Amino acid sequence: MTKPSKVSCNVDLAKAGKQVGFLAAPHSRNDSGWGSARFPLAVIRNGSGPTVFFTGGNHGDEYEGPIALTRLIQNLDPARVQGSVIVMPYLNAPAVAAGARLSPIDGVNMNRAFPGERDGTVTRMIADYLTRHVLPRADVVCDIHSGGKTMYFSPFGAIHDLDDKALMKRAQEALVAFDPPIALILRELDAEGMIDSEVEGKGKVFVTTELGGGGTTTRATLDVAEHGIMNLLKHFGVLEGKPVRRASRGLAPSRMMTMPDAAYVIADHGGLLEMLVDIDQAVREGQEIARIYQVDRPGEAPVVYRASCDGVLLGRAHPCLIKPGDFLAMVAQQA
Ligand code: CA
Repeated sequence: MTKPSKVSCNVDLAKAGKQVGFLAAPHSRNDSGWGSARFPLAVIRNGSGPTVFFTGGNHGDEYEGPIALTRLIQNLDPARVQGSVIVMPYLNAPAVAAGARLSPIDGVNMNRAFPGERDGTVTRMIADYLTRHVLPRADVVCDIHSGGKTMYFSPFGAIHDLDDKALMKRAQEALVAFDPPIALILRELDAEGMIDSEVEGKGKVFVTTELGGGGTTTRATLDVAEHGIMNLLKHFGVLEGKPVRRASRGLAPSRMMTMPDAAYVIADHGGLLEMLVDIDQAVREGQEIARIYQVDRPGEAPVVYRASCDGVLLGRAHPCLIKPGDFLAMVAQQA
């Protein structure tokens, strides 16, 4: 028998109405001996229906999720809800407060901390609490990501290629309902420890996004998040009505895309990155897509990087200064 979590929750997930509270993990430190770290959590519940769990700020420098989900908490009237909407707009709250990807408390990436550890550091304790007490209640989890300060993406929604094809079909229907500009079957570089794998492993629908990046938002990227959130709630019957299509708002319809084996380009050199193609631009296999200039050798030719497959540039490194081993670019193909 596992010992109870050291994390406490001051809202009742089974109670009707709207409650806005937090998870609290014990966090003793020099400036607060009996202190705790708080992770905001809201529940909006009414009648009977599915439970949708929305998370943003899993990485603390990605902002569409935190802003769109804060608005959801404030604007969603429980009387309109059939079921439950659980919202953690700042999943890694200390990281969001610090404007950093990782928690400043323990240096841990929330999205590599799952399933978590009861006796682990603060981030791992929260992951363990979610795995044991929140994910089992959810029918659907939507985790809203963006590129953060170090990456930039053409805004896309995504699901994974799952062995469980029936689950994948339900996830794909949810993704189509979310109605992002690009609907991608995403291949992860490093999937272990992600909330994604934990949710999918429990046989539940998981939808994620990468919306812009660079450590900020735009009106367009926030709109993708807000449009998708409302559509997902309608798709699962938590809100009344049918998902609204992009076309009916004068926008280009969602494009289905997949990632080839050679989708990722990783930097092998350090220096100044010059991108030769822009996001959303078509590339051919072998085409020069970037150059890296070594900052201590201005007389030497830059190192050239080429696309390793045909497709469209969907993501790139955001800072100009790049190091060996860094993500440089990502290519996707029309499905
Ligand atoms: Ca992220």
